[in-house]
Order: sequence, then C-alpha cells, then structure tokens
Amino acid sequence: MAEDRLMEIYNQLFKNFGPQHWWPGDGRFEIIAGAILTQNTNWTNVEKAIANLKAACSLTPERIYNLQTETLAELIRPAGYFNIKAKRLKSFMNWLFENYDGRLENIEAVETRQLREELLAVKGIGPETADSILLYAFDRPVFVVDAYTARIAARHYLIEPPFDYAQLQSVFEDNLAEDVKLFNEYHALLVKLGKEYCRPKARCAGCPLEKLPHTIEA
Ligand code: SF4
Repeated sequence: MAEDRLMEIYNQLFKNFGPQHWWPGDGRFEIIAGAILTQNTNWTNVEKAIANLKAACSLTPERIYNLQTETLAELIRPAGYFNIKAKRLKSFMNWLFENYDGRLENIEAVETRQLREELLAVKGIGPETADSILLYAFDRPVFVVDAYTARIAARHYLIEPPFDYAQLQSVFEDNLAEDVKLFNEYHALLVKLGKEYCRPKARCAGCPLEKLPHTIEA
C-alpha cells in the first residue's frame, strides 16, 4: 500500500537523519519572508538577507510594508533576484494590509483552501511558496513538494513521470494522516536526502533508502 511505503521511507529517513527542526526561522513573519526569499537560492544566502533586514529594521510586517521597494531590494541583495523578490515581498505585504489589516493573527480563522487560493493570487507566490507558508507559518496540514521530492518520488516508484505539482502533492496528502508535525518533518527530511544523496547524480551507496526498491533512471 502507498501509505505503508510512504511511512517506510519516512521512518528510514527519521531514523538516519533525526529531527530537522524546520522551519529555520524565528517567528511566523520571518518564516514567510524566508519562504519568499528562498526561491531559486540556497538557505545561506537567505540568512544573510534576513540578517540585513533585522539589522536595518526589526523584521515586522509594519516595517517591511513601509520600506521603499528599492531599499528593500538593496537589503535582500544577498538572496539573489533581489529586485524581483523585493516586489514579491511587497505584493505579500500589500495583500496582508489590504485584506487583514497587516496582522498575521487575523489570518488564523481563514479556512486552509481559501487561504491557499488567496496566497496563490499574490504575484510571485507559487504553489511551493504558498504551501511552505501554510505549513510552516500557519501550521496547516498541507504537504510541500519541491524538486527534491519529485526526484525521490520518481526514483522510488511513488509516482510515474510526467506529473505536476498537484499530482505529486496528492501522493502524500491522499496517503498520509493529515498531520502537521508529520508533514513538517517529512518535507524537511526529503530536502536533506535530496541534498546529501538523491542528487541529480544519485549517491545510492550508503543512502538511508538504498535497500528500498528504486531506479536511478527517473
Ligand atoms: S540516492 Fe538512490 S537510494 Fe537514495 S533516495 Fe536516491 S535513488 Fe533512492
């Protein structure tokens, strides 16, 4: 059964890697900023951008909302694509202030599917970023998938290519208990696996999933 296979993978990863303590951010707003800044870059660069924001102004919705886009872009320069990301952060801030009075706590009562639709309507926020915000900032039971997840799932026969984001996400959401903690840890473990072993050129020797059925053709 798919659920058993998914849990077998999870258990192997957790046994080998241990808890990942995601999301690596200090508070809800920092998690959201990090989710937007991490698009197309590595986390070290995001940390530098967040450190700049913290040094220049406290990292709060009000402060970021009131920053000029050009100033914001300069502060987040280490994250790469800084002009685009500054506009994306500003788009998020505009949505937050226009709809929720600039207060993240006002979002808590919004139903998950509606909130997802609203986030996806914000310019520059795609499914992975929206789902990261839902899961890690708002504790919603939404499974985040990314390029690592796609590679590992295809190589372990969880899904047959070609597939899209929603189809891959369904593999996990339809077969796992709707559990925020599990979804949080599982995604983080898959990222670690993808970085350390399941790279474009697979390093199966010594990988925690080495003994499970897989192919590196996918
Ligand atoms: S590196 Fe090999 S064994 Fe490990 S997850 Fe990728 S395909 Fe599976």
